[in-house]
Amino acid sequence: MRNVIILGSGCAGNTAAVYAARAGLNPLVVIGHEPGGQLSVTTEVENFPGFPEAILGPDLVENIKKQAERFGAEYIWGTVDQAKLGERPFRISVDGEWHEARAVIIATGASARWLGLPNEQKLIGRGVSSCATCDGAFHRDGKIMVIGGGDSAMEEANFLTRFGAEISLVHRSDQFRASKIMLDRARANPKIKFLTNTVVTDIYDVSKNRVTGVQLHDSSTNRTWDQEVSGFFVAIGHIPNTRPFLGQIDTDTDGYIVSKGGARTNIKGVFHAGDVQDRVYRQAITAAGAGCMAAIEAERFLEAEGH
Ligand code: NAP
Repeated sequence: MRNVIILGSGCAGNTAAVYAARAGLNPLVVIGHEPGGQLSVTTEVENFPGFPEAILGPDLVENIKKQAERFGAEYIWGTVDQAKLGERPFRISVDGEWHEARAVIIATGASARWLGLPNEQKLIGRGVSSCATCDGAFHRDGKIMVIGGGDSAMEEANFLTRFGAEISLVHRSDQFRASKIMLDRARANPKIKFLTNTVVTDIYDVSKNRVTGVQLHDSSTNRTWDQEVSGFFVAIGHIPNTRPFLGQIDTDTDGYIVSKGGARTNIKGVFHAGDVQDRVYRQAITAAGAGCMAAIEAERFLEAEGH
């Protein structure tokens, strides 16, 4: 029986582990299907306080993990496939193996949303990407496509103009969720061409094992055509990793955990930290802060229960 199990090893989970371990709670941290969370697929992080010369994302998250381990946090590889949060002790299944705990911190984050086209997954890492920062440099002087109409798509398109000769921004309608400033910046960039009311219907070419082009369809004109691209960046939002907790933890319609104040969920003894609850700020530093809050709440909860 654990005092606390922390689910997720991104900035939120690792920071919760530092605080919980330092409080003597000997936490067990489940690494999850994206070890290190989103920082692990980032290059330079320039806005995490304390690093005036920037730090590499994977180094930052690994440092926090080492810090937690120094105080006694234990890490296990695996993914949470089931959770029983309706009675105590809480029970968490990691790849089929059950673990029991008095308190749980859910820091499972949010994963990139994909279009769901048959060839998309087959070409990930071969031109299809959800991270311009990670993969933009592979498309120097190439033709790049970015999908989406939110701030992420604008940010990625602007960033990719550093590398690509031509960026096509494809959005399924002509209404943008992006903030005016981000949209205006992208519109003012001569390298970015907007294709609105347009959807991608196929990605080529699995037989060549790399992206060579796409098929597009303009719903306003009913035109379908092929376009050559080498880089295909999907920036259509994220999906919170809450599937094992649905029906037990209160979530909003998109599956994000609904906070009951501080780091509290609707279940006493189960806390949230990071992007699994936060759809607004989604920063490494806010996730770290949320991890700290969750650990402090877990510690106080356990103390009040006499542990
Ligand atoms: P978002 O605001 O939810 O936008 C997602 C976009 O993807 C929407 O334009 C949506 O189109 C489109 N989309 C969703 N599913 C699609 C599908 N299956 N096929 C085609 N298009 C699809 O997500 P986000 O851009 O990742 O931003 C998330 C949050 O982070 C926002 O609060 C944003 O402000 C913030 N953020 C801020 C910054 C910054 O300030 N630097 C940078 C990035 C993100 P519809 O509109 O038609 O639904």
